[in-house]
Amino acid sequence: MSERILRLVLLGPPGSGKGTQADLLASQLGFVHYSTGEVFREQISQGTELGRWVESYVARGALVPDEVVLAVVEEFIRQHGQQSIAFDGFPRTVPQATGLDELLKRQSAQVDRAVLIDLSDDEVVRRLSSRRQCRNCSRIYNLSFSPPKNASVCDVCGGELYQRADDQEETIRSRLRVYAEQTSPLIDYYKQQGKLVRLDGSLGRDRVFADLKQLVEQLR
Ligand code: ADP
Ligand code: ZN
Repeated sequence: MSERILRLVLLGPPGSGKGTQADLLASQLGFVHYSTGEVFREQISQGTELGRWVESYVARGALVPDEVVLAVVEEFIRQHGQQSIAFDGFPRTVPQATGLDELLKRQSAQVDRAVLIDLSDDEVVRRLSSRRQCRNCSRIYNLSFSPPKNASVCDVCGGELYQRADDQEETIRSRLRVYAEQTSPLIDYYKQQGKLVRLDGSLGRDRVFADLKQLVEQLR
């Protein structure tokens, strides 16, 4: 079976479910889930030079400078250029989007679709304040609508569940401002290229994924 290799960009405010959907694309449809936020959190927890450099940005919900992000992504694309990729939380600015286009072009590839997962600000705050993540395997839970059996233990691997430092209400509000100012212009960027697909993030994980799966099957 020769399936088309696809590059999907998942767009949407923090907490809209990009990471959850990218996980499903990886586990069910063979995509590589690539989250720049996850890369930064790993580097920070390992105390690497990159981690120390980006820590202050991530902690206050500000964007890491484009050049740094693009250097990290360039390395990733060099290694994974010939696989289907779900980009989660990248690109986040117009310069990052044009940078991604250039990096993919070198591999004779392109962004196939940008999938916007829409969610209201109030719902974002509600979701993120009850979000928990596994320290060990990075799986995401929500204490209100996808609760683990035990509030502090991962169902899958038994790892410790924690609340991200940037999931406090004040930081959530500033991430939403950053999203509105710097990331939402990408909606037009991809719309103008005829690549935008809009999904309603309030429908919940399984309904959103059903639509996403249908999209992938059509494109393949
Ligand atoms: P969320 O989508 O829930 O806000 P992420 O895990 O995608 O969380 O990102 C967490 C933080 O990492 C961001 O608030 C930002 O500081 C940094 N970050 C992640 N991806 C990027 C990016 N593409 N450009 C700039 N900063 C980024
Ligand atoms: Zn786990």
